[in-house]
Amino acid sequence: MDMLSSERYITAFSKSAAPVLRVSDGATVRIATKDCYMDNLRAENDPRGAAKGPAIGCNPASGPVFIEGAWPGDTLKCEILAIDVGDYASMRISNHGGLMADRVTAPIVRCIPLRDGHAELAGVRMPLDPMIGVIGVAPEGGDVDTESPGAHGGNMDTRHIRAGSTLYLPVAAEGALFALGDVHARMGDGEICICGLECPAEVTVCLSVVHGKREKWPMLKDERGRWYAIASAADLDEAAKLSADAMMDFIEKRVAIDHNELILLMSLVCHLEISQVVDPLLTARTSLDPFAFPGLDF
Ligand code: CA
Ligand code: CA
Repeated sequence: MDMLSSERYITAFSKSAAPVLRVSDGATVRIATKDCYMDNLRAENDPRGAAKGPAIGCNPASGPVFIEGAWPGDTLKCEILAIDVGDYASMRISNHGGLMADRVTAPIVRCIPLRDGHAELAGVRMPLDPMIGVIGVAPEGGDVDTESPGAHGGNMDTRHIRAGSTLYLPVAAEGALFALGDVHARMGDGEICICGLECPAEVTVCLSVVHGKREKWPMLKDERGRWYAIASAADLDEAAKLSADAMMDFIEKRVAIDHNELILLMSLVCHLEISQVVDPLLTARTSLDPFAFPGLDF
């Protein structure tokens, strides 16, 4: 299996980023990731000891990985096989950033142990549900920093991007130039306070190329066969419309169905959901009930 260290990372997705690993089409890669604060956010009396550098919230994404045979116009299929989180997660709130910043009366920096598949906060014990915040390829246009989501993927903060799911990303550069990071041991829809359980991780993915076929926005299929079209924009209204359009385009290319009847049907079997409202662009997703078109494939 190909391995990638968390020391090889980018803070912007770019066509001109130099690959740090080259893999063949269909390769399985194990990728170590730092948390979004470069593993350096420290609470008082943090059990991890002193930080090794400044706690910059720069969303380092390990990569980029060059996938042989991927060309613009193709799709990179990324099967997420496993997400193994570290022993601790970090969180913080302040009066800057996040949907609830105006309600914060005292900033918090917190280190939260991840033990036996659970975390505990404010007396509430909760199961971990690891997901990937930042995952993408080089974008079509100019560089996009790892703070922002877009058509290339990036900081989509979508909790269904978890082990068992398969993400389809539109390729814009030779080799795709894939990277991922910003793993959360758990996160609720919206990422209301601005962070999830931010943690280092090791992620195992299988990367393969779908030739000559591409959607405008990332598409995700979860372990139950539910499809999601994930789109980002300056506000939620626009993100919602873009994701619904993306789902309609996806279905219409693959299913023989009357155009206007599909619009009727979408109101019954599609669900508009919020991924996150705290990044430079906001992310919405439209999901499709698996019973509607069983066997629907990319
Ligand atoms: Ca994020
Ligand atoms: Ca994060």
